[in-house]
Amino acid sequence: MYRTHDCGELRISNQGQKARLAGWVQRLRKLGGMTFIDLRDRYGITQLTIDEKAPKELVAIVETLGREFVIQAVGTVAERSSKNPKLPTGDIEILLEEIKILNASELPPFTIEDESDGGDELRMKYRYLDLRRAPLRRALELRHRMAHEVRKYMDSQRFLEIETPYLIKSTPEGARDFVVPSRIHTGEFYALPQSPQTFKQILMIAGYDRYFQIVRCFRDEDLRADRQPEFTQIDCEMSFVEQNDVLQVFEGLAKHLFKNILNLDFSDDFPRMSYSEAMNRYGCDKPDIRFDMKISEITNSVKGKGLDLFDSAEYVGAIVAENCAEYTRKQIDQLTEWVKRPQIGAKGLIYIKLAGNDVKSSIDKFYTPDELKTLATTVGAKGNDLILILAGTKKTTLPALSALRLEMGTRLGLRNEQLFKPLWIVDFPLFEYDEETQRYYAMHHPFTSPVAEDLPKLETNPAEVRANAYDFVINGVEIGGGSIRIHDAKIQRTMFKVLGFTPEEAEKQFGFIINAFRYGAPPHGGIAFGFDRWCAIFGGSDSIRDYIAFPKNNAGKDTMIDSPSTISKEQLDELGLRVSD
Ligand code: ASP
Repeated sequence: MYRTHDCGELRISNQGQKARLAGWVQRLRKLGGMTFIDLRDRYGITQLTIDEKAPKELVAIVETLGREFVIQAVGTVAERSSKNPKLPTGDIEILLEEIKILNASELPPFTIEDESDGGDELRMKYRYLDLRRAPLRRALELRHRMAHEVRKYMDSQRFLEIETPYLIKSTPEGARDFVVPSRIHTGEFYALPQSPQTFKQILMIAGYDRYFQIVRCFRDEDLRADRQPEFTQIDCEMSFVEQNDVLQVFEGLAKHLFKNILNLDFSDDFPRMSYSEAMNRYGCDKPDIRFDMKISEITNSVKGKGLDLFDSAEYVGAIVAENCAEYTRKQIDQLTEWVKRPQIGAKGLIYIKLAGNDVKSSIDKFYTPDELKTLATTVGAKGNDLILILAGTKKTTLPALSALRLEMGTRLGLRNEQLFKPLWIVDFPLFEYDEETQRYYAMHHPFTSPVAEDLPKLETNPAEVRANAYDFVINGVEIGGGSIRIHDAKIQRTMFKVLGFTPEEAEKQFGFIINAFRYGAPPHGGIAFGFDRWCAIFGGSDSIRDYIAFPKNNAGKDTMIDSPSTISKEQLDELGLRVSD
């Protein structure tokens, strides 16, 4: 037997017992005549102790140890004289009697402790060493528990976990596909699924009623921080449901996870907010509602006083930072620089400070104090508040106000990580129009059903059609989204037509599902959640990478295995591919 206990197990109640442990040497310390070894495994750390009076052979082996050596140790559990309250095993140590080196280790390129001295790239290259660190281990443990609880809940709701294929067909909607060349069918390609969307709908047509899968999805999108080319979804679909049924079931899933992972109770229903309210009051479709600071449009209240910035603007909006009238010139200048950065792109920042009965602002020349006070009342500012105003086109100013609102929330400490504010966003538009390509795109995806009463406008006025779609948001992070689907072949064909497909193109790309709709498709709908992101937000982190055992770096590469990489000429020939140089 390699071990009698793991490294996180022994307590003072084990005092006097013999124990055999196996693990990695995290740290070696010499103090007077004593040597202390921190022995680590997945379960914790136990201190091994040896003094100079120990047998020579034992001392000799200890002398050769280095960090990350794999050892087996035998000894007696004893009470420590100086206890370590930070470790669950901190009351005891093991007085070393036997030691065996199971494997030596080269000196690791960074410290394997909670706070490592290794940079991102180095730790990615040596991911197996990074994964030995407790914060990463805890992240993967959380992920495991989340997956387990998802399966428990879904099973309790009679969902079947069914796998769908990874080698599928490339379709032109959504993001770019990763493709896989077929050797046998030279010149033909599989695509990796961006999501199992069509398969889960086909499972509904096949009568499976309730499906889910914790499934890998692949999207060849432009690289962005915290986006992974492959990521995991909790993918779900249900038959004979309306929007409210889907929201109820998955609100249940969220509550189950809040309770069983974080021990948080949510007795009330999650709030639901329309897309247009989210856009108008928060400037984005995934508002962080842990704090208020809503946006007020003041376009019509500020025009006509000779201030060109406002007079020429399509949209003027304000937020109120409560009790921030003391903001100094320097702080305001800093904020102004912040909103002018290219990522935010505002032209400038206008402020109004209320100090009791006094008003101070950067637009004093154009507005009387009374006019400014009236404006302050319009946007709901009081006493000691600071009003921040941006102006420009609506399309750019609302997102800028949204970013400013979040920044102020962060600066004022209003975005408490321990607080969770889930939210449903509903009533999305069905389409968004792209000026560049001059066509409509499905805002969610082309299988999303229009709201029934908007159906007559589908061909005549697509921009006004609302979708039977919903997103799930926690603390300003989009965790999931889904919709009630079209289940009528005729409406599906019209949808493709509005999206600019000729009947032939639609048939070639999506004929399989349109055909399936002709054989008794039940009304159905579903949702998919970003599993990595949900884990990250429950773990209190911004980075999904920590919750993925082997993620890609910011350049989409796995530097540990060196991927992507070139392939041999023979492989290329076999696949009928040629690479230009
Ligand atoms: N397949 C969709 C997505 O990946 C989710 C859904 O509509 O269920 O975003």
